[in-house]
Amino acid sequence: MAPPKSKKSAAVRKPQPAFAGSGGAPGARPRKAASRSLYSPAEVDEIFRRFSVQRPEPKGELDYVNAFTLLVAVVLSAQATDAGVNKATKPLFAAADTPAKMLALGEAKVGDYIRTIGLWRNKAKNVIALSKALIEEYGGKVPQDRDELVKLPGVGRKTANVVLNVAFGQPTMAVDTHIFRIGNRIGLAPGNTPEQVEQGLLKVIPAEYMRHAHHWLILHGRYVCKARKPDCPVCVIADICKSKEKTTDIPAPLVPIAPLDETFPVEA
Ligand code: SF4
Repeated sequence: MAPPKSKKSAAVRKPQPAFAGSGGAPGARPRKAASRSLYSPAEVDEIFRRFSVQRPEPKGELDYVNAFTLLVAVVLSAQATDAGVNKATKPLFAAADTPAKMLALGEAKVGDYIRTIGLWRNKAKNVIALSKALIEEYGGKVPQDRDELVKLPGVGRKTANVVLNVAFGQPTMAVDTHIFRIGNRIGLAPGNTPEQVEQGLLKVIPAEYMRHAHHWLILHGRYVCKARKPDCPVCVIADICKSKEKTTDIPAPLVPIAPLDETFPVEA
C-alpha cells in the first residue's frame, strides 16, 4: 500500500501527472482519456484465474485489528513502508483501537507512537481529527461508503477504496503505484491517472475476482512485475503478458505461494 520511496521509480516518473493531483493548471492541455485494455475477456479471466491459484487468500501487509485501525494504518502508510507502519502501530493499537480511545490519547501521545513514520506530525493531527469526526458524525463507526470516507481528514479515494475492500469486502480497486504501473506496463487498463486505471480495471476484471484483485495486483507488482525491472522468469502470466518490457514468453510454474514468502524485504 505504501508507494515506493525511491524517486527514481519509473512508475512515479512516467507519466508524471498521474500522482500530481487531479485538477491541472488552468489552460493546461486536457489529458487523454484512458485507453482500452489490450486483453480479451478470456485473457483477463485467465490472468486472474492464475493469480487466484497462486494466492488463494491474498492479504495486505498492514496490521490492523478492526476497520478503525485499518483506516488509521492506511492513513499512516502514505509515503511510508508497511513494515515501518506496523512497527509503530503495534503499540499504538494496543493503547487505542477505537476512535474514543484514540481521541483520549491525544495528538501529542499519538505523535510519540508514530514518530518513526514520515510526515508524522501531520498524520497525528489527521488521526485525531478523523477519530473526532467518526465519533461526532458516524457514531464512532467507520462508514461503509466512499463519499463519506473521503470527507474524513487525511482520507483520499485510494485510502477509502482500501478500507471498503479490505474491511468491508466491497469490490473496489485502490490504485497505488504498483497497480498503476501494471495497468499501464502490461496494458491491462492503461490510463494517465490512478482514477482512469481504476475505472479501466473495474471494467475488465471479472466480478468473481474483484474481491481479491487489488491484493493480487499489488503483490504481483511488489514481488514480480517490479518497478525498476520486471522479474519475468518468475511470472505466471508471462505467456499472456503483452508488455514490451517482458523478457520471456514462458510462464513460471503455477503453484500456490506461502504467505510467509511475502514478508521478506523487497523493492518497495
Ligand atoms: S511478463 Fe514481465 S512485464 Fe509481463 S506481467 Fe510478468 S513480470 Fe510484468
